[in-house]
Amino acid sequence: MEKPFILAAHGDRLVLASLRTELERLYSNVFKVVGATDVHGVLDLLDHLRSPVAMIIGDATTIGEVRSHIGLEASKVVIVAPYSDVATVHQRLTELDAHEVVVSPWSGDSLHDGVDDLLNDWLALHTAGESLVMIGHRWARDAHELRDFLGRNHVPFRWVDLDHGDEGVRLLDGAGLSDAKLPVVLRAEGDALVAPNIDDLADALSMHHHPTRQYYDLVIVGGGPAGLAAAVYGASEGLSTLLVERDAVGGQAGTSSKIENYLGFPNGVSGAELAERALAQATRFGAEVLAPQEVTKLSLDGRYKVLDLADGRSVSGAALVVATGVTYREMHAESLRALTGAGVFYGAATTEALDAAGEDVIVVGSANSAGQGALYFAKFARSVTMIVKAADLRETMSAYLADQIEASPSISVRVQSRVVEAHGEDSLEAISIETKSKVVRLETRFLFVFIGAEPRNEWLGGLVAADDRGYLYTGRDAKNEGWPLSRDPMHLECSVPGVFAAGDVRHGSIRRVAGGVGEGSTAVQLVHRYLASVH
Ligand SMILES: Cc1cc2nc3c(=O)[nH]c(=O)nc-3n(C[C@H](O)[C@H](O)[C@H](O)COP(=O)(O)OP(=O)(O)OC[C@H]3O[C@@H](n4cnc5c(N)ncnc54)[C@H](O)[C@@H]3O)c2cc1C
Repeated sequence: MEKPFILAAHGDRLVLASLRTELERLYSNVFKVVGATDVHGVLDLLDHLRSPVAMIIGDATTIGEVRSHIGLEASKVVIVAPYSDVATVHQRLTELDAHEVVVSPWSGDSLHDGVDDLLNDWLALHTAGESLVMIGHRWARDAHELRDFLGRNHVPFRWVDLDHGDEGVRLLDGAGLSDAKLPVVLRAEGDALVAPNIDDLADALSMHHHPTRQYYDLVIVGGGPAGLAAAVYGASEGLSTLLVERDAVGGQAGTSSKIENYLGFPNGVSGAELAERALAQATRFGAEVLAPQEVTKLSLDGRYKVLDLADGRSVSGAALVVATGVTYREMHAESLRALTGAGVFYGAATTEALDAAGEDVIVVGSANSAGQGALYFAKFARSVTMIVKAADLRETMSAYLADQIEASPSISVRVQSRVVEAHGEDSLEAISIETKSKVVRLETRFLFVFIGAEPRNEWLGGLVAADDRGYLYTGRDAKNEGWPLSRDPMHLECSVPGVFAAGDVRHGSIRRVAGGVGEGSTAVQLVHRYLASVH
């Protein structure tokens, strides 16, 4: 395959020439650098390039014009701006959907520093994509689950839709699997997985790791922002640290297309990128991360917290941080349940979301996550309709998101409405909503549901006190819930000494990324105090 491209687009020929020279000097061994001075030149190049564009870098005007013609969702976007314009460009970064600003003229390593991480991120996600090809029907629920799993774990793969073109049939014939149960996953090694479940796939890709020890100072259950923060702080402060995540690190935040209110990212950061960076940081400090691996049971053995894992093994920790967050609440109508994965999706379902390009998309919910979802889909869907129970979006959504939604021409909001039924045989064709006492049918093939979430802590077996919705009590709230010691529980400590809760799973948490990160890191300080008290 040809090298992927870096496309430089700048209206000033001299700047363009020096940009190309510098990028070629830095990256010509991996990328091919091409350039154009205006939007027509860029569109012309894009028509002819046969390899993907990893990055488009140029002045704000040209990039803005390119953006208004095409999506470039898969490329990293960097704006080059003179120092005097940097503040203005920063304000426009969301609108331009750009990742970084580099000041021109650049000096020393400033260009390299601005683009290097982005190019590495792109490579990590896009290279080796051909080593895994999944073939199946677009609306099949099991294929959806596998695609979602691979996408959330950043495993590059190519999806071939049997209902589109003849490539899928050819690939299956070639592998001697014309009549095989679907989906089929073909690997570069030459073998195939027929209708695998997530465990089979994770095994085949060697994603199932096993703990290297039996005992750890600290075991963390859940790899969302809270668990990842606890892992970074625990490992960096010398504790032997194990993090167990049942699905994909990043948790709910990992499914967010853009987190705009997390400190230090003025232009927002995608949840996937934040999770990837946090994971790299945690493992660099020596934390062990088992993902995917589910904790199925907690038992107490003296001071040790013993955790059973889904693969039949168990590990023990002197201290435990529970950071299991919350799980999407499902809609209960039977017709919706039957079409889950076949047009009805929970959360942003980022692997499917791109299939919704040019479609009429429905988003259910009115919290910030629904608002972010709607704005994300609005970039490529023909229209987005939000179904909202409340009378006003602002009752439940942050003002900055409600403002953006109101300003978006392709998003409409149906207030005081709820979904009552889904229609479709094999896949979603339409929904019925009840709106101000009338039932209305809306044609759609994509329904994304963001109706809130709740903790799922059956694995704790009732050993740790929780409120009636399952959120874990900590600190003062835990004191009256069977706390056994004469000292008071520390403020993130649960009703069992040495068990801490951090993030969304905690009774009274603020349900924000920053809150989870703060609590995860604070919990580690309390773990130190706890360990000192028992040794
Ligand atoms: C779409 C969306 C957009 C959002 N946008 C923003 C935003 O812009 N700004 C903001 O501040 N907040 C945002 N939030 C909220 C934010 O993501 C959450 O507050 C945050 O992720 C909570 O982190 P957490 O670590 O407590 O839990 P979670 O993120 O829920 O992570 C918990 C993890 O625990 C794992 N787990 C659960 N049970 C087990 C088990 N038994 N064994 C092993 N692992 C287990 C789960 O798989 C999950 O990965 C958004 C949420 C969503 C859904």
